[in-house]
Amino acid sequence: MELSTIAAVSTAYGESGIGVVRLSGPEALSIAERIFQPGAGREKESPAAGAQPRSMASENEQNLVLTKKPRYMHYGHIVDPKSGEQLDEVLCVYMKAPHSYTGEDVVEIQCHGSAVSIKNILALCLRQGASAAERGEFTKRAFLNGRLDLSQAEAVIDLIRARADRSYKAAYSQLEGILSRRIRKIRSALLELLVSLTVNMDYPDEDIEEITYKRLLHDISSINDEILKLLERSGEGRILRDGLAVAIVGRPNVGKSSLMNLFLAQDRSIVTAVPGTTRDTIEESAVLRGIPLRFIDTAGIRRTGDSVESIGVERSKEALARADLLLVVLDASQALSEEDREVISLAAEQPCITVLNKQDLDPVLTREEIEALLPGCRCVEISASQGFGMTALEDVIEDFISSGGVRREEDLLVTNVRHEALLRRASEELAEAASMTERAEALDFIEVNCRAAFDLLGAITGETAGDEVIEEIFSRFCLGK
Ligand code: GDP
Repeated sequence: MELSTIAAVSTAYGESGIGVVRLSGPEALSIAERIFQPGAGREKESPAAGAQPRSMASENEQNLVLTKKPRYMHYGHIVDPKSGEQLDEVLCVYMKAPHSYTGEDVVEIQCHGSAVSIKNILALCLRQGASAAERGEFTKRAFLNGRLDLSQAEAVIDLIRARADRSYKAAYSQLEGILSRRIRKIRSALLELLVSLTVNMDYPDEDIEEITYKRLLHDISSINDEILKLLERSGEGRILRDGLAVAIVGRPNVGKSSLMNLFLAQDRSIVTAVPGTTRDTIEESAVLRGIPLRFIDTAGIRRTGDSVESIGVERSKEALARADLLLVVLDASQALSEEDREVISLAAEQPCITVLNKQDLDPVLTREEIEALLPGCRCVEISASQGFGMTALEDVIEDFISSGGVRREEDLLVTNVRHEALLRRASEELAEAASMTERAEALDFIEVNCRAAFDLLGAITGETAGDEVIEEIFSRFCLGK
C-alpha cells in the first residue's frame, strides 16, 4: 500500500531561531518544488537596499534544484503558488528515498522560528496535498521501512524526553542498536536450538545428530543466563529513563524543605515542577550526577513543612509506596522523639537512607543508634543550612542506584518497562523449558516454551509485535517526530 505524504512541524512551537517543517512520502518532492523558489543568497547590500526583491533563479532552473542536488541546503523562499505571496525566506533540503530518516522521500524546510511562519508553511503544504502527520508518524514510517527496529524507535522518544545526561546516554546507545544487537544474538541462538529440536522431533530415525537432554539443558540455560544478565540492571535502567522517585520524610522542622532546596539549587539547569502521578501531588525534579530524580509529594513538604503529620499517615504511606528511595530526615541535635520513631517504622520496610541533619549544632543522635533501628539503611551526616555533607549524600544515592556495583560505560541497560516485561516472560518460558528438560519430557513440549521465548524477544525489536502494540508505542510520541 502506498502511504500518503505527511507534513508536520518538527521543532517546538514558540519563539526560536529557526523552525523546521518536514514532509515525507511520495509527493514530498513535488510539493516542495511547487512551493520553494530557490534564489541567490543575499548580496552584500546596504541596509536600505535590504528591502529590495532578491535575485531569483530563472524560471526553468527554479523548480528542479532540489531534485538535481539532494542532500544540499538550498537557499530560497516559500511562495504560495496560487497567490504568489512570499511566506518566508528559508533553507530547504531534499533527502531522496531510501536514504532518509523515514526511508521515504523527505524534504525539510528551515524557516524563521516564528509560530506564524511555521504555521503558514505547514498550512501551505497541507493545501498542496500533504496530510497532517500523526504523533510519531515519521518514526513509525522509519520502523515500517526497516530503517529502525522497534526498540530503536522507542529510544528516539526516550532521547527526546531525556532530562539528564545518563538518561540521554542510555537512550542513545539503545538508538545505536546496542540492545537490538544483543536481542538478535540471543534470538539466533534460540533459533538454532529450535531448529535442532524440530529436526529431532520430525526425523527421529534419520541419521542426524541426536540432541541429548544434557546438551539441551545446557543450551537453554545459557540462553536464559544471557536474558537474566540483561534483567539484572533493569531497575537501574528504569531509573535512568523515568527518574528515581525519592520521598523525603520526617517530622516537622527536621530540615526536609531545606534539604530539598539544596537538591533543587544544585541542579540549575533543569528545575521543573511537573504534574505528579496523582492529581493532588506535585513532583519536583532535579538531576543528580546525570541521574534524574523525582521528588514525591513535595507539595506536602512545601505546604506545611510536614509530610507525615498533616497529610496523614495513610497518605504518607501511599507516597512512600510509590518511592524508589526514602530519605528519612532526622534532627541530630535532638534525641529521637515518638514522631521520629513513627517515621522510622514507616521506613523500615523500604529502601532508605537516613539523613542526620543539623550537624552544625551539637549532635546527640548517633549513626549507631539509627543503624540499630534501621538495619541495612545507610546514614549520612549533613547540615542542610550550612550545606555540608551533600557530597557524601550524593555518593550514597548514586551507589544506591547502581546497587553498589561499578558501572562501566559500555554496560547495556534495559531502560524500557515493556522490554523488561518481555525479557522476564521470555526468561520464565525458558526456565519452564529447562525444568521440563530435566524431567526428560517430550521434545515438542519443550519446543513450545522455547518458541514462546523466541517470539517474546522478537516483540522487543518488533519482528513479532502486534499492530496494537505498535500503534500504542507511536501514539506516545510527539508530533513531528
Ligand atoms: P521541615 O519542616 O522538615 O521542612 O524543615 P525546614 O527545612 O523548614 O527547617 C526547619 C528549621 O530548621 C528552619 O528554621 C531551618 O532553617 C532549620 N534548619 C534546617 N536545616 C538545618 C541545619 O542543618 N542546621 C540548623 N542549625 N538548622 C537547620
